[in-house]
Amino acid sequence: MGKSTFPGGIHTYDGKNLSKDKPTRVLLPKGNLVFPLVQHIGAPAKPIVAKGDKVLVGQKIAEAGGFISANIISSVSGTVKEIEKRLTVQGNMVESIVIENDNEYQTIEGFGKERDYTKLTKDEIRNIVKEAGIVGLGGAGFPTHVKLTPKDDSKIDYVIVNGAECEPYLTSDYRMMLEEPEAIIGGLKIMLQLFEKAKGIIAVEDNKPDAIQKLRELTAKESRIEVRSLKTKYPQGGERQLVYAVTGRKLNSKKLPSDVGCVVDNVDTVISIYMAVARSTPLIRRIVTVTGDAVKTPQNFNVAIGIDYGELIEAAGGFIERPEKIISGGPMMGTAIYSTNVPVTKITSAITAFLHDQAAVEESPCIRCGKCVQKCPLQLMPYQLAALSNRSDEEGFTKLDGLECCGCGCCSYVCPAKRSLSQSIMHMRSVVMAKKKKA
Ligand code: SF4
Ligand code: SF4
Repeated sequence: MGKSTFPGGIHTYDGKNLSKDKPTRVLLPKGNLVFPLVQHIGAPAKPIVAKGDKVLVGQKIAEAGGFISANIISSVSGTVKEIEKRLTVQGNMVESIVIENDNEYQTIEGFGKERDYTKLTKDEIRNIVKEAGIVGLGGAGFPTHVKLTPKDDSKIDYVIVNGAECEPYLTSDYRMMLEEPEAIIGGLKIMLQLFEKAKGIIAVEDNKPDAIQKLRELTAKESRIEVRSLKTKYPQGGERQLVYAVTGRKLNSKKLPSDVGCVVDNVDTVISIYMAVARSTPLIRRIVTVTGDAVKTPQNFNVAIGIDYGELIEAAGGFIERPEKIISGGPMMGTAIYSTNVPVTKITSAITAFLHDQAAVEESPCIRCGKCVQKCPLQLMPYQLAALSNRSDEEGFTKLDGLECCGCGCCSYVCPAKRSLSQSIMHMRSVVMAKKKKA
């Protein structure tokens, strides 16, 4: 097998035509902004403002609650209205800072100031990234300063920019590659300053030839940077699949990319690194795709973190008719939501709304066709794992490597009996993982 792809995986209808050719639109919030204190992996952030305080754009309003945690920065100027529990995308009530926007967008001193990053030390770069509250914007929300601090910098051979964007319907990373390629390259150069021996690779699926061409033109004279074209296949953007496709190195659930000499960050995270380090602008915005056949005018928005999902849907013209299903994220790995009155957080990538719920088709018994096994990118046995999960057989599930499942959804997608394999497996996985944590 070559190195430009990985075993298994699927080709889906990608729905990207709905929004891929529309330039990203800046959308200013109308209502109050809500900042949940949990919008990253790790300890919740701790508020450092109180009700009634005035805040500015770029001001830290909550600080990291531990090493694996992240600061939260205000995206508007205004007044802290409440600190109280608010509903989030995951359906939980989470302690949140609510800010009333004064619509003046007054910034803290030094906000947006250009900085010559080539003169910064490694510690200075890492500290700026940490202070800026940057987390992995590909969906996982892992604090970026931690990722940029492996045990030994000299062991990192590759810094990989994940531009695969293989989840169907999503086009925000694609738009960024066309609209802000200089910031991506700048962010990568900053990361390469941390890892002197590493090579930088911008990895893009071959269904985005214009983005590949543009990035190649701009990096033609960069000896440490290569733009790699990858086979279009889902889940090419999964960290394990991407690392394997680019380097041939294998990861499992117990290994971090740095254990195999790699640091991986998605396109928008790399732009955020550039904005923080070279432009003194912390993480206060997200690029969000609003799409699906239920949306009147699908497109990408550049929005303040904290804005309400309902405002974004309204800005995209609202719904053609009442959607059957609304997903935060893409259709393969996103979360179905039941209220649009939830805030955009650092890990919001898209709102996808469908008129018909494909997943609502009734399940039938497994016919042992083996398609789920063939397509699993991690070479697992999905039909057996789902059966073990349904029987609550934790031991059997663990023995059969159920904890390795990354929840990509390929198995459910190809199953002719429409079995919810991925959901059953991921449910069991979270049960076993939670018990392991407690032990
Ligand atoms: S959801 Fe898990 S079991 Fe199913 S294809 Fe993906 S990795 Fe394999
Ligand atoms: S794809 Fe569906 S029907 Fe085929 S073996 Fe897997 S679970 Fe059974």
